[in-house]
Amino acid sequence: MTLLLRAQDVEQAAALLRGGDLVGFPTETVYGLGADARNGRAVAAVFDAKGRPHFNPLICHFPDAASAFDEALPDDRARALADRFWPGPLTLVLPRRPECRVDLLAGAGLDTLAVRVPAHPLALALLRAARAPVAGPSANRSGQVSPTTAQHVLHGLGGRIAAVLDGGPCAVGVESTVLDLAAGGAALLRPGGVPVEAIEAVIGPVARPIPVSAAAATRTLRSPGMMLSHYAPALPVRLAAGDVEADEALLAFGPALPGAGVVWQLSGTRDLREAASRLFAGLRWLDAEGARLGLRRIAVMPVPLAGLGAAINDRLERAAAPRG
Ligand code: AMP
Ligand code: MG
Repeated sequence: MTLLLRAQDVEQAAALLRGGDLVGFPTETVYGLGADARNGRAVAAVFDAKGRPHFNPLICHFPDAASAFDEALPDDRARALADRFWPGPLTLVLPRRPECRVDLLAGAGLDTLAVRVPAHPLALALLRAARAPVAGPSANRSGQVSPTTAQHVLHGLGGRIAAVLDGGPCAVGVESTVLDLAAGGAALLRPGGVPVEAIEAVIGPVARPIPVSAAAATRTLRSPGMMLSHYAPALPVRLAAGDVEADEALLAFGPALPGAGVVWQLSGTRDLREAASRLFAGLRWLDAEGARLGLRRIAVMPVPLAGLGAAINDRLERAAAPRG
C-alpha cells in the first residue's frame, strides 16, 4: 500500500526516504519520485518502480544552493544562475566533486551531476528534513506522461512506492530546463520551465543542440541517437560469458565462473536491485584494475532480462558496443 501523506507528515516522509524507501513529492514542475541519492539500492528501486528499460541520469534535489554545491562543483556562471533562478525550474549539470556522496547509479555512471533546488515549500521542507540529496525523476511509469497531482502518482505508481506527499497540483506542469555547464560551454539539454533566453541574459550564448519546441524535443530525446554520452569502460567488454580467459577480468552475477582472478560481484544472490546498484561502480573498478594488471578485456556473466535486468543489459550492451 502506498501512503498518502500531507504537509504535516513531512517528517514521516523524510524518515521513509532516509530508510531507503521511495516517496513521491510535489515540486513546482511535476511530481518527483524521490530516493536517498546516496543509497544505491534506493536508486535502483526508482528505476524498478518506473519500469525504465534503461538507466538515465537522475536529477538530484537540494534545499539550497550551498548543499547542491557540496556535491557538484559550480563555476561563476553556475553561481550566477543559481542566484537568479533557484529555487526554480532550472537544472544545472556540473562536474561531480571528488567527495560527492551521490551514488554512481543516480548519475548513470557519469562524472557529472544534475542538481536543482525546487521552488515548492513542501519539497523544500522534505529536502531539509531528509538531510540527504534526493534523486528524483518524474513520478510516473516509463512511457507515461509526467504527473502533476498526487492522484496521478498514485494512479501510476500506487503499490510500488512507500508514499506520496500531497502538495496539490503543480504550478508549472512542464519539467525543469536542463543546462549543461560541465564541459566548459553552455548547452541546453532539455527546454523547460526557465526560458533559454532568460538564461542567456545572465551568462551569454547557450548552444541549442536540440530544438527548443517542447514537442520536438521530446521526440528527439526519445530517439536513441540523441541519448547522452554514456559511461563506457576503456577495456573491451565480452557479454554472456560462460567461461573466463586468463587475460580477462570478470563481472559476475551469481557464483563467479571458475578460474576468474579479478572479479566484481554484481550480486552473489542474483538480486537485480543489488546488481543495478553495483553496476557502474563495478565497471569502473574492473576497468581500473584491468588496466593496472595489464588485462585485455572484461567478461560479463549473463544477467536475466526480466524487470531491472532489461536496464542492466541495455547498459552492458552499450559498454560492449564497438566504439567509433
Ligand atoms: P527526468 O528524470 O524525467 O526528470 O529527466 C532528467 C533529465 O535530466 C533528463 O533529460 C536527463 O538526461 C538529464 N540529466 C540528468 N543528469 C544528467 C547529467 N549528469 N548529464 C546530462 N543530463 C542529465
Ligand atoms: Mg520523466
